Amino acid sequence: MAEEQLHLDIVTPDSTVLSEDVEYVGVPGAVGQFGVMKNHIPFLSALAIGSLYYRKGGSNTYVFLSGGFAEVTPDSVSILAESAERAEEIDVQRAKQAKERAEERLRQQKEEVDQARAEAALKRAIQRINLKERQSGSSH
Ligand code: ATP
Repeated sequence: MAEEQLHLDIVTPDSTVLSEDVEYVGVPGAVGQFGVMKNHIPFLSALAIGSLYYRKGGSNTYVFLSGGFAEVTPDSVSILAESAERAEEIDVQRAKQAKERAEERLRQQKEEVDQARAEAALKRAIQRINLKERQSGSSH
């Protein structure tokens, strides 16, 4: 029997990145990864910088999220993210350059604000690079 589907929307301030019926969503919550299938109890969660993945027709697709919020209802997951990219939209060269810039800032050890910003930029860059590797290593 086919698995029941739920609707997944991923929206950023710039655009709707994804709007699809899927079977399962793995979400990078602020206090840890959580999984959602149809008929989940409703809740809200803040998001970490990381990868969301969804399963549809036996394959997993990964989407980078740079933080935001998730709203879960029994038949949907709505993600409101600061930025979101599918693997094919990620520019690895750009992420590697962002990683180097952030590492250089962290080496300089300036004010705390700069450190926190550099740490967040470093996390985004590492997660983008990891996602690209993970998606290219997956089954499709
Ligand atoms: P950079 O320093 O390269 O701008 P960043 O982590 O500061 O990286 P964000 O603030 O997360 O960038 O994103 C700004 C915009 O640029 C968003 O629309 C995001 O989707 C896009 N973006 C950032 N990095 C990449 C990347 N490596 N590949 C594709 N799009 C990216």
